[in-house]
Amino acid sequence: MEILKLIKHLFNMPETEHPNNYEFKNARQRMIEMLFPSPEFSPEDIERRYPPRDLRKSAKVTRVAPSPTGFMHIGGIFAGLLSERLAHQSEGVFYVRIEDTDKKREVEGAAKLIMESFEMFHIPVDEGESATGEDIGNYGPYRQSERAEIYKTFVKKLIEEGKAYPCFCPPEELEEMSNEQRDKKISPGYYGEWAKWRDRSDEETMQELEKNTPFVIRFKSSGNYNKRVEFEDLIKGELSLPENDQDVVIMKSDGLPTYHFAHVVDDHFMWTTHALRGEEWLSSTPLHLELFKSLGWEPPRYGHFPAINKLEGKSKRKLSKRKDPEANVTFYDQEGYPTDAIKEYLLNLIDSDFEEWRTKHPDTDNKEFPVTLEHLKGSAGPLLDMVKLQDIAKNCIGKLSADEVYNQSLEWAKKYDPELARMLEDDPDYAKSIFSIERGSEKPRKDIARWSDVQHHIEYFFDDTFNSSEINYSELLPNISHQEIEKIIDTFLSMYDEKDKKDEWFEKIKQTASSAGYAENVKSFKKSPEKYKGHVGDVAMVLRVLLTGRRETPELFYIMKTLGTDRIKKRLKKI
Ligand code: GLU
Repeated sequence: MEILKLIKHLFNMPETEHPNNYEFKNARQRMIEMLFPSPEFSPEDIERRYPPRDLRKSAKVTRVAPSPTGFMHIGGIFAGLLSERLAHQSEGVFYVRIEDTDKKREVEGAAKLIMESFEMFHIPVDEGESATGEDIGNYGPYRQSERAEIYKTFVKKLIEEGKAYPCFCPPEELEEMSNEQRDKKISPGYYGEWAKWRDRSDEETMQELEKNTPFVIRFKSSGNYNKRVEFEDLIKGELSLPENDQDVVIMKSDGLPTYHFAHVVDDHFMWTTHALRGEEWLSSTPLHLELFKSLGWEPPRYGHFPAINKLEGKSKRKLSKRKDPEANVTFYDQEGYPTDAIKEYLLNLIDSDFEEWRTKHPDTDNKEFPVTLEHLKGSAGPLLDMVKLQDIAKNCIGKLSADEVYNQSLEWAKKYDPELARMLEDDPDYAKSIFSIERGSEKPRKDIARWSDVQHHIEYFFDDTFNSSEINYSELLPNISHQEIEKIIDTFLSMYDEKDKKDEWFEKIKQTASSAGYAENVKSFKKSPEKYKGHVGDVAMVLRVLLTGRRETPELFYIMKTLGTDRIKKRLKKI
């Protein structure tokens, strides 16, 4: 007896065969060895590598699984925020998995863009590939293309168990088949009698493998389309859908898995408990449940949320990546919407109770809002409403201090508007005093919705822009003569003192009004309009227009304080 056999015999260990000794193997094993010549891991190795997470029972493990196509859809942030909130509210884990198995669609740098977008929106990711490329977390790699060996191990297991098989149908044959199905008006796909390689012998398969014929691996479905599978969707509730009967491709000819298979393996080994994804995946859920079952694994609970819509005329349609700039996260950055405002807006879309909560808790961090899926239930699709977003953004910016507005708008301007950046950096104190106008009070001014609005709101404070802007005074002040304007200016300037408090200042405006023949208050004017040329508001309007070139501005008193006496004199004398 050879020494190895002797040892095995003594210790009662099973005989193993030499891996290349085909005689001892049946055809199935030989075929599998041809498919997977160097198996790296056994299923048990992998099970050991990803032990259960050490979390309490009620903790949710959620994920987003974007494909790196170079475009970050606002819906991706919606999904991320929703999943992140559910995980962290339950002291669970939120991770990001990059689903890059479709190499044709992949764009370089796209994974980085995804991670940066989550960072930009302050959506804390516990595990995933960092923006700089390294993995954080024990359940990685978090990029599917780096998990190829794991998928192979389980594809192999399914083949061994007769639940998957190689298919050598060339694309032309598949196309012919689907044309025939269309002509005969029968359900399309690779199933039943159309599943040409489903019941081929292992010998036939090996012959093709020897010829190096390209192949894919298909799942051998045992479902019946006329039967139904029932499950409870986290968002849609109790559902009953036809069983899957398609022998779908689980591994492509490039050796990488399809989404269907890869996400099943990953959600299992990453211990996902709640998989929230777009409703476009709903119809594949029976297949996914069947895949879980055939691998002997418990599926996560699925929740399918509707796509974000927008109004076009009176009808609703899905926000389109191609047609709608607001579908792209970059749009919000370029426009300068504060990320917190977008986040609050999305929270509102996820759970409409957010608005009421925000009113009750004006200063609480939005992290404290308990997100539920209740309001998404039965929703035909949240509607992206830019006016609402702007209102929320105005509120968010209204709450910031002048320094914060200065810093954030400067940061944005450095990226997108060098002219504004120059304006802000030229005299930071002056810029901050402009931002202080009507800010910090109980009822702050809410005029800025995005940083790209800032230029418009502040430009008239700066002499360069003010002097070069073409102001049509006669259009802005249509019913008053040049002479009268001059009289108002002279009277007002003879009294103006920048140290005056608001009451004192207003008293002087009133005096200016009465000496020019205008009523000191609106009430007196309304009582006997024939006695006056107008009222105090008209006089203030003259000053406002001359000082700002606009009829609508924040309070004139504060504008004057900010402009300072020199500028005031220069501007008023300009006419
Ligand atoms: N990669 C899939 C997608 O981008 C993910 C779906 C899922 O979350 O499971 O739609």
